[in-house]
Formats: sequence, structure tokens, C-alpha cells
Amino acid sequence: MPAALIDRLRQARRVVFFTGAGVSAESGIPTFREAQTGLWARFRPEELASPEAFRESPQRVWDWYAWRRSACLAARPNPAHHAIAALQRQWPDSVLITQNVDGLHRRAGSVEPLELHGTLHRLACFACGRDAGDWPENPPPSVPRCACGGQLRPAVVWFGEALPAATLRRAVEASEAADLFVSIGTSAQVYPAAELPLLARRQGAWLVEVNPQPAPLSALADLCLHGAAGEVLPALAASLDLGCVDSPGASL
Ligand code: NAD
Ligand code: ZN
Repeated sequence: MPAALIDRLRQARRVVFFTGAGVSAESGIPTFREAQTGLWARFRPEELASPEAFRESPQRVWDWYAWRRSACLAARPNPAHHAIAALQRQWPDSVLITQNVDGLHRRAGSVEPLELHGTLHRLACFACGRDAGDWPENPPPSVPRCACGGQLRPAVVWFGEALPAATLRRAVEASEAADLFVSIGTSAQVYPAAELPLLARRQGAWLVEVNPQPAPLSALADLCLHGAAGEVLPALAASLDLGCVDSPGASL
């Protein structure tokens, strides 16, 4: 690990970890833009992940999300998720902001991640917007209904929808207050999430990017760590002597 980064980490108080689909790639969950392997290469997103798609064919959208959710449940948090949880314990004021909907950060022990794009593990009413609790253990084959009669949908943010306002506000505040902002496995192209590293940088944070490929953020970053999150994050935690960061016991 570069000495400049270790110094920054040791001095930092308000650290933001900002993750995208790349952090879950090593858990076997395809990323968004990887044309060859990405989930979306096989499906047109607007046919599955939009209010229009749900209105047109609720059952198809429900089935697809049920399948995605079971794939996420079958996956396990990888060393990057565990290392982030361990690093967070170092800084009580750190904040984890994720664009992922897979729930793997929580399963690795991260407390209260700000899930900007919602989660696959909860439901909401498509008609009245009410929170409809956890996705049921044994989901009915057909789309369940809310007390108001509306159909239930996954509590994720679809194309064309606004981000949850309170979560976005907390993410903006944390980014503006950060002295160190670590962006991990995101192509940083989905707005407004992609603006957070820019806000942090503008307010004086040191910006670190972890990505095996150059991404739009690379040009702005103070330091780019080119490598897989599952290797870079544990190495980073190890360089701070955080002990056991890959604890499979925390993944259940
Ligand atoms: P993206 O697919 O646009 O970008 C992924 C980035 O991760 C790329 O820059 C890629 O080079 C990098 N990457 C690939 N493997 C990596 C690794 N092992 N370690 C570190 N980086 C790696 O993803 P995004 O920026 O998160 O935007 C996609 C949108 O799709 C988000 O809104 C997200 O909600 C959604 N999405 C979520 C999941 C999930 O929950 N796991 C999966 C797919 C898409
Ligand atoms: Zn309702």
C-alpha cells in the first residue's frame, strides 16, 4: 500500500466508502456494464427495471426479481465486503454508501449502509408507496397485494425514479463532510450517485479509487488502486493491522 494512503487512513476521521456493482463481482453477481457477463446484456433494462415495465407486465418483473434475489441469497459476501466492515469499525464516524441492492454489505456486518438504490430484500406498494416489509421467505408465485389493493414490488429504485430522499440527503452530507472518500467498483456513471465523489472532492476530501479498469473517476482521484476489490481492500485493512478481516462466520 502506498505510504501516502496509509498516512491518510491513519489521520482520517470522516471516511466514506462508496461502492458499486464491482464490489460484488467476486461474489459472482454480474456487474451492470460488463457487456459480456452483465445481467443486463441478456435483458433490456427498460423491459424489466422500470415502472412502465411493471405496469405492463407485473408478473414478468416479479419473476425476474425473485430470480435475482435468490441468486443474491446464494452468493456470499467476499473479502472486500468483510474488509470494508472491518475498516468501518476503525472509524465510528465512517459511512458506507452503496449503489448495490444485493444486501451483501449487511451480511458482512456493515451497519446501516446507505442503500441509494434500495434493496432486493424488501417490498413496497406500487400504488400507495407504503413500505411492505421483508420479501417473504416463501414468496407466492403471483405478485402479492398491499392492503390498499395495489401490487407489491421490490423496494429498489427503477429507471426514471427518484432516489429515496432521506438516504440521498444523508449520503450528500456524509460526502461533503468526508476527509477521505474511497470509491470501490463503480463506473460512476449513474446519477445522482455519481456526483457524490465529486462533491467530496470539491469539499476537500482525498479521493481514492479502487477499480481494476480505468473509470471516469480515475482522472479526478488522488490515488487509483488498480486491482480487484477482493484483493485491494483486505490488503488495505491488513496494512492498518486490523486483524481478521475475512470472517466467514459474519456472512450468515
Ligand atoms: P457498473 O457495472 O456500471 O460498474 C462496475 C465497475 O466495477 C466497473 O467500473 C468495473 O471495472 C468495476 N469492477 C469490476 N470487477 C471489479 C472488482 N473485482 N473489483 C473492483 N471493481 C470491479 O456498476 P455501478 O457503477 O454500480 O452502476 C450500476 C448500477 O446497477 C447501480 O445503480 C447498481 O445499483 C446496479 N447494480 C447493482 C448490482 C448489485 O447489487 N450487486 C449488480 C448490478 C447492477
Ligand atoms: Zn398500497
